[in-house]
Amino acid sequence: MRYTSTRNNKNAVTASLGILKGIAEDGGLFVPGEFPSLDYNQLLDMDYKEVASIVLDLFLDDFNMDEIVSSIEGAYDSKFSCQEIVPIKKVGDANIIELFHGPTLAFKDMALTLLPYLLKLSLDKNHVDKEIMILTATSGDTGKAALEGFKNIPGISVTVFYPKGGVSEIQRLQMVTQQGSNTYVVGVDGNFDDAQTGVKSIFSNKEFNDKLLDKGYLLSSANSINIGRLIPQIVYYVYGYLHLVRTQEIRSGDSINIVVPTGNFGNILAAYYALRIGIPINKLICASNDNNVLSDFFKTKTYDKNRKLLLTSSPSMDILVSSNLERFLYHQIEDDTKVKELMKDLSEKGVFKFLEDMDIIYGGFADENKISHCINEVYTKFNYIMDPHTAVAYAVYKEYIEETNDTKATLISSTASPFKFSNKVLSSIGKVVSKDEFENLKELASTMNQNIPEQLMELKTLRERHNLVCEVDMMKDIVEAIIGGEYNA
Ligand SMILES: *Cc1c(COP(=O)(O)O)cnc(C)c1O
Repeated sequence: MRYTSTRNNKNAVTASLGILKGIAEDGGLFVPGEFPSLDYNQLLDMDYKEVASIVLDLFLDDFNMDEIVSSIEGAYDSKFSCQEIVPIKKVGDANIIELFHGPTLAFKDMALTLLPYLLKLSLDKNHVDKEIMILTATSGDTGKAALEGFKNIPGISVTVFYPKGGVSEIQRLQMVTQQGSNTYVVGVDGNFDDAQTGVKSIFSNKEFNDKLLDKGYLLSSANSINIGRLIPQIVYYVYGYLHLVRTQEIRSGDSINIVVPTGNFGNILAAYYALRIGIPINKLICASNDNNVLSDFFKTKTYDKNRKLLLTSSPSMDILVSSNLERFLYHQIEDDTKVKELMKDLSEKGVFKFLEDMDIIYGGFADENKISHCINEVYTKFNYIMDPHTAVAYAVYKEYIEETNDTKATLISSTASPFKFSNKVLSSIGKVVSKDEFENLKELASTMNQNIPEQLMELKTLRERHNLVCEVDMMKDIVEAIIGGEYNA
């Protein structure tokens, strides 16, 4: 199986080369040339890791099963605080799939614990003898998960750009206290879109990449534009479906709805890929926060990013340019010339129209009041605490049910631990919010009758090691300086 660029489908690579490159030279994203099919009934008795091995094997053509299994064993081990890896909780009529039990307490861990193994193997397979520099823009959670996943891996370093002032205090602390002799964290004077655009333009700057190659460095990406991020995310939707069959919520073959709190469109795209390999899905419900460019798009068929990016209580979704939407558009029409045109319109005018059928997706959004209301309602009714991102999904799920009376079984993607966003959670359920982040963690822990996750508790005493900041147009120079050894990790 080959992966081809959304902007030129003659540009084809193997899975391992796609993982190494991250993004195609033409600026497009790699997509599977065709979708394999999965006989999910054979997987009913499997645990998470076994399901993962089957799904990864379908997509990673040039990896053998031993390589896949040993990568999975390395990724989904005791770094996860829960044996099941991905527990699914019944909350009212919905099924909440908790994707946040990994080392950094957000769903990004599902792929970023695995990506280092896949990347290492990809280097060998393609006989690359360069040092790798992973470049990543983060809206808060990818950065930490990438730093943690790649720390102290020989031959690989990682540089993370985050929007200064655009992440939660816990997210910031998680990144700037990062250990490891190969990790770099840089605050950007700008928002996430600025950081992401900056990183993308570094990748597509051929001259700059050639210069780095001469110095022995190859750039790669840990953002969700990388197929190595996307493919591991398909697994939990397959697993979630199997769980609903096993617990007799549904019968095998019944279709379900999946609700995903969405930013860069990577997580929901993985659910769409689950559909394309054969998981019966009725609707994909795309939930946005106040940055509702996607919900507007699915309602009006016009994508318009010409608006102000707002900072919300769900910072990991504060995004106006959803990179992975490009892949979805491509799959709807399989026309690379057209996709290239749309993306040109987006970058030049900030707007494009897409009049094709997109009925598989329902788009909605939740503002701050609705988020608080939902956190409180679910806590009061079901004694379950959601983080603000998950609450965005829950709110849009409620709106969808009200509008359609659809009674199909539903999976809601829960993307972060509430401990990462304790301020919003506490204020929503009527508790006093302290200025001291760690007091809030304590309060939340006693409300939830759980311990504060250790990896957050230790932030109180860890030294802030990373204090680099830069303007957006200096990002390239910072990368060069890091590679030149001007900053010690
Ligand atoms: C990254 C992230 C999202 C958005 O996921 P995308 O794949 O970018 O759509 C939602 N919630 C949390 C907590 C995240 O970290």
